Amino acid sequence: MTKIYAIRTGSVKVRRGQRESRGKGVARTLNMLLDREWTEWLPIYAWVIEHDEGIIVVDTGETSRVHERGYHPSWHPFYRRAVQFSVHPEEELGPQLRALGIAARDVRHVVLTHLHTDHAGGLAHLTGARIWVAEGELRRASGWGGKVGGYLPHRWPKWWDPELLRFEERPLGPFQRSVPLTKCGDVVAIETPGHTPHHVSVVVQGTVLYFLAGDTSYNQGLLMAGKVDGVSPNEAVSRGTLARIMRLAKERPLVYLPSHDPESEARLAANAVLVAEEGSSPAAFAQ
Ligand SMILES: [Zn+2]
Repeated sequence: MTKIYAIRTGSVKVRRGQRESRGKGVARTLNMLLDREWTEWLPIYAWVIEHDEGIIVVDTGETSRVHERGYHPSWHPFYRRAVQFSVHPEEELGPQLRALGIAARDVRHVVLTHLHTDHAGGLAHLTGARIWVAEGELRRASGWGGKVGGYLPHRWPKWWDPELLRFEERPLGPFQRSVPLTKCGDVVAIETPGHTPHHVSVVVQGTVLYFLAGDTSYNQGLLMAGKVDGVSPNEAVSRGTLARIMRLAKERPLVYLPSHDPESEARLAANAVLVAEEGSSPAAFAQ
């Protein structure tokens, strides 16, 4: 019997214009950076899938090192203006895994939805695990280009030797390609580009689909409304992904679990499926 645990690794605040974008093109980015309004504190979730074949962890959350002086590049406008963190050491992934009785060596696979710091910040706790990431995401996040893009590649553990997800033509509803993470194929990674161009999500197929969404949207309401966040480089690509998730939710009962949705944990506990209403046809915001 597969069980999923939500691990809250602290909290993050972003500008309202990041959670839901306003304007087009460069104005969209400026609206995010110059927005005076903060969101409330939002959770930073990582997920643990306790499967018969072994433990799968999705995302690693954030580290309390964010509170160290100089941990973030002070020259970067995003870190200067647009984000605040609150992470206590005991909220990090390692201590929370231990509290569940799980050691790093028990973890069979780790999948990173993308490499933003609040998803990759807990890597240090997973020494020795096989850690999977999309090739394009790794390329985008590496080196100076990655730093300029807001990633923190110099904070990745030196031992980290990423394994690349190899997508195959194995459709899951409207998603054409996937990577099976279990032999029986009931846990898969799928391509959900938008928030970053090579962002992935993980789907656990039980009596319902548990959609571990990373940052496809900051919450379920924004998914249902087809609203794109302020960091997505290509709005049309993001909208296409949101439309596909809605289509999947019409085909199969689906519990939508974004990393920063304050309701994710309650939805998981209640098995609360997304009800794709007839009136709000995803075609309305499809590409
Ligand atoms: Zn992100």
